Amino acid sequence: MIDLTGMNITMASGKGGTGKTTVAVNFAWLLASAGQRVQYLDCDVEEPNGHIFLKPSFTESSPSKVMVPVVDQEKCTSCGECGLKCQFHAIVNLPGDTLIFPGLCHSCGLCSAVCPTGAITEGDREVGTIEKGNGIREIDFIHGVLNVGEAMAVPLIKKVKNGRKDPYVHIVDAPPGTSCPVVATLNGSDAVIMVTEPTPFGLHDLKIAIDVARLLNIPTGVVINRDQGGYPPLTDYLDFAGVPVLAVIPEDADIARHYSQGSIILEALPHYIDVYRSLAENLERLLDVHGVQAGRMRS
Ligand code: SF4
Ligand code: SF4
Repeated sequence: MIDLTGMNITMASGKGGTGKTTVAVNFAWLLASAGQRVQYLDCDVEEPNGHIFLKPSFTESSPSKVMVPVVDQEKCTSCGECGLKCQFHAIVNLPGDTLIFPGLCHSCGLCSAVCPTGAITEGDREVGTIEKGNGIREIDFIHGVLNVGEAMAVPLIKKVKNGRKDPYVHIVDAPPGTSCPVVATLNGSDAVIMVTEPTPFGLHDLKIAIDVARLLNIPTGVVINRDQGGYPPLTDYLDFAGVPVLAVIPEDADIARHYSQGSIILEALPHYIDVYRSLAENLERLLDVHGVQAGRMRS
């Protein structure tokens, strides 16, 4: 099997509910079972669920904080400079009062830099938690858990990615969609595997997600999940766009049942191992075509 050591392979999907995490955890399991050192980074911080399948024993848990400005109203002259310069409308200057809206703040630090009186200092606030541990097959595991109601997912995602270890294969579980958290997750990927379902909604969102990956210049392939005998609009689009199908996984009630029990599909239904092996082989071809140096072949 292809040795992916050192690679960042991101699992993404245009929409939620396509089976992205199922593919991610089973691919991680396959690589680890073949003797590769695998690290799983769950960047789907609003709804992380990789741990349900990889069952890590968490050994570390730490709060993740971001900088937030603090105004000393005694020093503030209400000049309005900070509110004028903040690109994110996180500051409102009222006569005699300067208000910060932490939920809108992107922690850029510009307001404290432009304040002529030194009234703004840097505080912090917690946006979520980073947890690390070891899962089945010795898979090194890290995920971020965003606080309920928190909008600032990107800083937490960056912290999860900063937890990358070497020499490992990094399997990165991206949030669904195409917004800023997805772009933050995709950045730095050697390849992205888009997991889609063969439906009109799946195809619509897949097209947008592929466009994002292309803008970032990341080699992209597709896994068609819950296939029911083919969906020509999807395969026609992929042919037209030149995006390879890396694997096709059929609709199967047994997969759904084992998924609902938090099981690894390849352990419960080993006849699917060949599907994931061909996914690995097709991924290698994709990397080759794009000149991305994969590791040496293992037996
Ligand atoms: S740190 Fe940046 S984003 Fe936050 S309030 Fe200041 S200028 Fe606005
Ligand atoms: S730039 Fe400083 S002095 Fe001016 S309104 Fe903002 S906090 Fe007050």
